[in-house]
Amino acid sequence: MKSIILYSMNSLNSSQILKSPLVIVGLGKSGTSAKSFLIKLGYEKIFTFDEKADCDLKTWNDVENLAPGTLVVSPGVPLKSIHILKLKKMGWGITSELNLACSVLTDEIVIGITGSVGKSTVTSILGAGAKIQDKNAFVGGNLGVPFCDYAISILDKKPKAKYIILELSSYQLENCDNLKLEYSAITYLSANHLERYSTLDEYYLTKCQIGAKTKAVCILNSASKDLMAYKKNIAGTLLVTEITTQKINLFGKHNLENYFVAESIAKKCTWSDQSFLAMQNFSGLEHRLETVGEFNCVTYINDSKATAMDSVLVAASAALDSLNHTGTLHLMLGGKDKNLPWEQLSELSKILNIQIYFFGACAEVAKSKSNLAGTIYLKMSDALNVIFDVVQDNDIVLLSPGGTSLDEFKNFEDRGDTFKSLVIKNYSTK
Ligand code: ADP
Repeated sequence: MKSIILYSMNSLNSSQILKSPLVIVGLGKSGTSAKSFLIKLGYEKIFTFDEKADCDLKTWNDVENLAPGTLVVSPGVPLKSIHILKLKKMGWGITSELNLACSVLTDEIVIGITGSVGKSTVTSILGAGAKIQDKNAFVGGNLGVPFCDYAISILDKKPKAKYIILELSSYQLENCDNLKLEYSAITYLSANHLERYSTLDEYYLTKCQIGAKTKAVCILNSASKDLMAYKKNIAGTLLVTEITTQKINLFGKHNLENYFVAESIAKKCTWSDQSFLAMQNFSGLEHRLETVGEFNCVTYINDSKATAMDSVLVAASAALDSLNHTGTLHLMLGGKDKNLPWEQLSELSKILNIQIYFFGACAEVAKSKSNLAGTIYLKMSDALNVIFDVVQDNDIVLLSPGGTSLDEFKNFEDRGDTFKSLVIKNYSTK
């Protein structure tokens, strides 16, 4: 444990030294990064446990049979689950990958972005600006690179970042006592993750906790009605965005709103004009309203990431805005349900030039709850094959499914990639 002793003398206070044994619960990307970080720190008794993967410990019983130490709980594992609550009672300490990474921070300016939708977009827009200011800027967290990867790079004596931009999910916000933000933002509040929170209020209040973790100012997107209604529940100094006009590279009104969230933070940081330019030129993320291309006068859009009703409505309205008056919007909805309020989509029934295609495990639920007309297909590819046959010039085909990808695919990226390759294959063989 030489390294931890040296390291703890330099930067860790004694409360940050973790009680062994350590069990990483949930071995996804962040759990794996946390494990590497702990090994680097010199910890020896590190076990892993994941109900869905082959790990050192096979069952919750195996965890319980160890002397109580510390659990590093992945955001995917609910802190309220009976197993975690039981282990806590038995004397186990609870921490997270995010908490661990915070232990290496010194004077970095940490910026946290949360919200039901828009997190990745705002984090990436801001990241584009940060990289101009600081070539060592770190952009990650819930998006892309786990925060412990940064912590590892610091232990490896790599250069420190001046700016750290973290995308934070509500699950991460439940378990991040060590996280102290200089600036933060809530991008949007809308119904999501109701499989894990007992009420919408509980979910919204979890997001609102970011205010109390923020030293300088928390930016709020004025376009989110629910967020404005919850403003009174957010601690600290708040700044509500003003949405004016600005030419940006992204598609849709919601992305202009996202831009202004990022811009407000960049202004507070007094970034240079080049940074603002880089943010305006940011051309978007894969699977979020990503234009696959125009094929025989039909535009295909991949919004596989959209797994909240607001996201679907936003994507549909952005597509309808750019639809030529002779065209039809072919909207593909489906995937796996997570108790989503599909009723919210019923407003689409008022639109005349829209055709709905329901696919996957939640097709029936989505159709009956939304009360929208449309045909049901077993798989995404079945719906797409029909679409290929019926589309006409000037139509737009939009995959903005609402449901998660886990019925048919590994993740939303896999679903989006499959959509893109089916489209490209269809047109390349014609
Ligand atoms: P997150 O990272 O929070 O899941 P993303 O930035 O990846 O969100 O965007 C996912 C989808 O959410 C987008 O494709 C879009 O349909 C929708 N969305 C993004 N930003 C907003 C916004 N400001 N308002 C409403 N919907 C949005």
